[in-house]
Amino acid sequence: MAAQIIDGKRVSQQIKDGLKEEIWALKEQHGLVPGLAVILVGENPASVVYVRNKGRASEEVGILSRQYNLAATCTQKELLDLVDHLNQDPSIHGILVQLPLPDHIQEEAVIQRIDPIKDVDGFHPTNVGNMLLGNPTYLPCTPAGIMVLLDSIGMEIKGKHAVVVGRSNIVGKPVSFLLLQRHATLTICHSRTLDLSYHTRQADILVAAIGKAKMIKGSMIKEGAVVIDVGVNRLDSGLVGDVDYQEASQVASFITPVPGGVGPMTIAMLLKNTVLACKRQHGLA
Ligand code: NDP
Repeated sequence: MAAQIIDGKRVSQQIKDGLKEEIWALKEQHGLVPGLAVILVGENPASVVYVRNKGRASEEVGILSRQYNLAATCTQKELLDLVDHLNQDPSIHGILVQLPLPDHIQEEAVIQRIDPIKDVDGFHPTNVGNMLLGNPTYLPCTPAGIMVLLDSIGMEIKGKHAVVVGRSNIVGKPVSFLLLQRHATLTICHSRTLDLSYHTRQADILVAAIGKAKMIKGSMIKEGAVVIDVGVNRLDSGLVGDVDYQEASQVASFITPVPGGVGPMTIAMLLKNTVLACKRQHGLA
């Protein structure tokens, strides 16, 4: 039987609708408008699209969105100065630096410069540490969105075997931790994993965050598994995930499409973090 689609567009729209009301109430009751600053360095075509989508989604829910474009040749100091300025700006509650940055800029130095209370991407070491200790401040957006998608299908995570392929700081590691926190039994795979299909075939929940088009084939998936495809790969034929959707959807019970699965959730969780950041900075959360 063909897998049911986990509709990230629909779930993210529900989150955005809830946020619209929350933002309206913040304005009515406290005169507050959450503000998000997005910094784009250079003109990486994928980043340009992501930043545009984040700006549009912010405006849709009533968040004040400001975009800062720096040339790819800007110095690290110029970027850090802008972050310092935004850290001090009371109308900005969330700061996002679109990654990747050009090679001459140290990503870690920039992330660490963002005031943790404005770190709505959840990448600052303080926020990562709080998440690992089980006291999350801002959960990283893509992993948090994946957990909401699993909840949206009523998935009981406790006791299930979750297999995550990918161990990046922004997706693989944090989503692994969130699954573990919800009592999944966990396997994390990466480029040095031997016999990847052996592991993926054990998965009740399979998360693919690899960055390789259609790498996870139907034969690598256990019958009835829930498959979350984080990958975004641009082919001439369009966007595809890390999972071979045609094959996987014949084996899985539920699957996220690409596009329209995890992507919209990442943005919705960013908006949610921005509203939370506004509340925190005004003693309302
Ligand atoms: P990274 O390149 O940082 O990490 C990729 C991971 O995949 C690494 O841990 C790597 O292992 C592992 N890997 C690579 N090749 C293999 C292989 N042959 N077998 C097993 N594991 C392998 O990518 P990201 O985590 O940043 O992103 C992953 C994908 O998700 C990308 O397509 C990205 O565009 C997409 N993405 C989508 C988002 C969304 O909102 N939908 C948000 C963020 C990312 P190793 O550590 O050993 O190198």
